[in-house]
Amino acid sequence: MSEIYDVHTSLLFDPKRLEWLDNVSITVNKQNGLITKIVKRESEKAEIAEGDLDLRGKVVLPGLVDAHTHIFLHAYSENPSVNQKRDESFVERIIRATNHCRIALLAGYTTYRDLGSESMQEADANVRDAINRGLMPGPRLFVATRVIASTLAYEPRTENHIGGTCLPAGCDAADGVDELRKAVRRRIGHGADIIKVYADYRRRIMRFPPKQQHPYKSEIKILPDDPNPDHNVFSDEELKAIVDEAKMAKAPCVAHAHTEDGVVAACKAGVLSIEHGSKAGKRGLQAMKDNDVILCPTLSVLESVHWPTLPTILDNVKKAFDMGIRIAAGGDTGTFPHGEGAREIELLIKAGLTVEEAIKSATYRGWESCGGDLCGRRFGWFEEGCSADIIALDTDPRTDEDAFRKVNFVMKDAVVWKQENQPVGIVEIGKPVRGEYLKRTVI
Ligand SMILES: [Zn+2]
Repeated sequence: MSEIYDVHTSLLFDPKRLEWLDNVSITVNKQNGLITKIVKRESEKAEIAEGDLDLRGKVVLPGLVDAHTHIFLHAYSENPSVNQKRDESFVERIIRATNHCRIALLAGYTTYRDLGSESMQEADANVRDAINRGLMPGPRLFVATRVIASTLAYEPRTENHIGGTCLPAGCDAADGVDELRKAVRRRIGHGADIIKVYADYRRRIMRFPPKQQHPYKSEIKILPDDPNPDHNVFSDEELKAIVDEAKMAKAPCVAHAHTEDGVVAACKAGVLSIEHGSKAGKRGLQAMKDNDVILCPTLSVLESVHWPTLPTILDNVKKAFDMGIRIAAGGDTGTFPHGEGAREIELLIKAGLTVEEAIKSATYRGWESCGGDLCGRRFGWFEEGCSADIIALDTDPRTDEDAFRKVNFVMKDAVVWKQENQPVGIVEIGKPVRGEYLKRTVI
């Protein structure tokens, strides 16, 4: 196959323009992984040269972006997060991540914004590099390495810490402006693409310790609702220092926040996105709107842990969308199985977004939530200079609600990984990727 070839389509959706386009041919370059030309044909007829790809008859989209993932987590229904961190070896978790990345790519996800290594230190940056070097198939990763939280705000904890009971650190814990600036510098130095900070968390969890840290429900029924509510973990001054330090390194800073207080504080500090925002409330939504902050509502994880207020949260996502807040699709994937990322798109549609807007959330908005041009690569729409990330569905999502589960074709950076529903270049689990893919473009 030559280095430059055409991909012929008969129906394509461009999320940036929010338009369905007929009869488009896209020229891609395997050398640099980019789209080099886009041509509108007169009719469905196409001149197919040797090496060209024919996706006519399928529904073509840009490669999907999951804006909130954890490659090192597998479903909480299989093993709660604390047990994964406590019991599974570093090696097992790396091998699981390798499988997760392959599965995600074959499901159409060409980019993952991976928001926290969950006690795996900076191994997410190493997996990112292994993918970029062609050692394993997977989405393009933008990683946070360790998340930043205050002392004991986000750590796996047990009721027995006598005698050196040792659990791997969950985050990069730091307090006070100077220490926090240092923590951001550490993250940047260790290769983080994105700085992730906890704005709030259930940091008083040891007051009513649950048997398992998920789903965080106490068995002591004293309080009317959640006995382990979220509280802000940083002062405004501390949050501002984190965001400013990240900005100095031209790195986006994103915040985990569920509560109104957490969301408002993070927005005021200048974060790019709010992760979850399940109880953002009126003030939270307004703060997102006023500061042009992206909302990544992670509906899939809330559904998978049977969050009781999910219907209200769906309403709020629609409210946020109607206010003009940008919505990014990210499921907190890993807390439920990798490969099921499409659930987030389905839930955004359930919340009331149109199919087109939901696709935009899972593509173009995903790119924006990686920092846009700050991330060093353009992807998530079709234009000259964008990464040649192209997927094809067997059916049309406007008429088939399961369409996002029917990914027939996957190309990332002009390299094909799935064709006619079959993996390409991935011979079997465990076997090395074919030599020709070792020549991968590094971002
Ligand atoms: Zn998460």
